[in-house]
Amino acid sequence: MRLSQFHLRTTKETPADAEIASHRLMLRAGLVRKLAAGIYTWSPLGLRVLRKVEAIVREEMDAAGAIELLMPSVQPRELWEETGRWDKFGGQLLKLQDRKESWYCVGPTHEEVITDLARHELASYKQLPVTFYQIQTKFRDEIRPRFGVMRAREFLMKDAYSFHLDDAGLDLEYRNMHAAYTRIFTRLGLKFRAVQADSGAIGGDASQEFHVLADSGEDAIAFSTGSDYAANVETARAAAPAPRPTPAEDMRSVATPVQKTCEDVAALLGVPLARTAKSIAAMTDEGFVLALVRGDHEVNEIKLAKVEGMAGYRMATEAEIAAHLGCEPGFLGPVGMRAPARVIADREVAAMADFIVGANRPGEHLAGVNWGRDLPEPDAVADIRNVVDGDPAEDGGQLRIVRGIEVGHVFQLGRKYADAMRCTVLDENGREAVPAMGCYGIGVSRVVAAAIEQNHDEAGIVWPEPMAPWRVAVCVINPKQNPAVIEAAEALYRELQAAGIETALDDRGLRPGPMFADMELIGIPHRVVVSERGLSTGTFEYRARSAAAAENLDRSALFARLA
Ligand code: ATP
Ligand code: MG
Ligand code: MG
Ligand code: MG
Repeated sequence: MRLSQFHLRTTKETPADAEIASHRLMLRAGLVRKLAAGIYTWSPLGLRVLRKVEAIVREEMDAAGAIELLMPSVQPRELWEETGRWDKFGGQLLKLQDRKESWYCVGPTHEEVITDLARHELASYKQLPVTFYQIQTKFRDEIRPRFGVMRAREFLMKDAYSFHLDDAGLDLEYRNMHAAYTRIFTRLGLKFRAVQADSGAIGGDASQEFHVLADSGEDAIAFSTGSDYAANVETARAAAPAPRPTPAEDMRSVATPVQKTCEDVAALLGVPLARTAKSIAAMTDEGFVLALVRGDHEVNEIKLAKVEGMAGYRMATEAEIAAHLGCEPGFLGPVGMRAPARVIADREVAAMADFIVGANRPGEHLAGVNWGRDLPEPDAVADIRNVVDGDPAEDGGQLRIVRGIEVGHVFQLGRKYADAMRCTVLDENGREAVPAMGCYGIGVSRVVAAAIEQNHDEAGIVWPEPMAPWRVAVCVINPKQNPAVIEAAEALYRELQAAGIETALDDRGLRPGPMFADMELIGIPHRVVVSERGLSTGTFEYRARSAAAAENLDRSALFARLA
């Protein structure tokens, strides 16, 4: 590519609203441009990178035996009613109406559509097992889109869905996909870890996440130095002893009168305040989380947060709380944003319990209980915090906590969707059987941001080679004044291209300083400078993006280096 004929738009300014390195660098390098909150245009440069990721994902999915198709992003409400997710999915589901006033959503995921396809297309066990995949735009109305394409509302996902006659078949494909994911992230040149995960809102049995390791990651992952154990911290917590149900007092009696103190709640729960409990139950259908909080101002308040998927929360209004508790608005006393934010902003905690009663003394103590169900038995209320770095692990090793960015997720869905949507095939005996399903996602666009988060320096992006927009930049010094230099650069460019090495020829006529700065910012792995001085000694100045200094190489040494 001749850069004089390409659209490259870099900026020096650091965008004020970009909090993390990848977001800043993606904007500065001109990979993406924001159109609206969480909605981005991929520039020609950004698209080259996105396509690289996509190609590797596609190659490995094909190699793993998955079959590509493409499903629509606009999906009819009726399908989502069948699985109950039209209401349950929460605020992330963008709903819209057509001119006939029929409702649709913009697909945040495709279990409904693929299961609909399967029930029409799959008739016999002979068609199983089968895995379909697509690389397609998703829309999730994230409560807090941020970090650019990292947590966007519109983003590119590879999603795959598998169908099996039995659980053993599902298990086999789950492992196959796990192996394919390992190859994908290895080929992309990323440092990553697969961890046990909570299957969250999508629901199901076995589930693992793939995390790119980076300090700015939104997720905390725990692993043990003593074994292969690795888990999302949500799951690591859940692995601790679960509270046993007892026929104790109904939580309503705890929560309804607002004047209960933290000590009262603790007494009712039968736990000392210095102890922490948690519930591993899923969220309620309504997705509410309750927090009874002692605020900074010694006010006891009841807080109810509406959990929107796994991604966030919003404070419930007083009316919603009252309606939920079945009492008059006003009965509850003050409902403000003050103190509880810290308690229920913890989405990991919020996602674990139906309701969380928080005795919020300097952040230490939370007791989770299931609303409307039995209270945990005091003995079973384990004395566990949030797992912390350095904790002893059960296997004798130490727990390490690192931050990660979730770039992939594999689930065993079981028969949840096939059952709900009456998807069946005929088995060997001619009887109707409900197939078991798996689903497997990769955040293709998030991978680009995650890669930058892990690979950058002060000068800009340092792409892992397989993701770089071009492998080599040929920089021409003073092309206008020097026909011989531009000729030599053109010849080198043609040769590199012919050798199958993707090359950008920087023939824009920029001064060396800004030209080199651009090539460093956009992260081209290898830079070759063609100058009058080099030509006179028969050498090119070569520098790897990650190397400290440049060196002068003759043609054959240069090609050897780039081979
Ligand atoms: P997160 O926990 O980050 O919200 P998720 O668990 O909701 O992600 P999945 O339903 O597992 O996401 O979707 C599969 C993949 O899609 C994720 O592993 C992630 O890489 C990507 N993804 C999910 N939400 C977003 C988003 N808002 N922006 C970009 N990529 C996303
Ligand atoms: Mg999410
Ligand atoms: Mg997640
Ligand atoms: Mg996930």
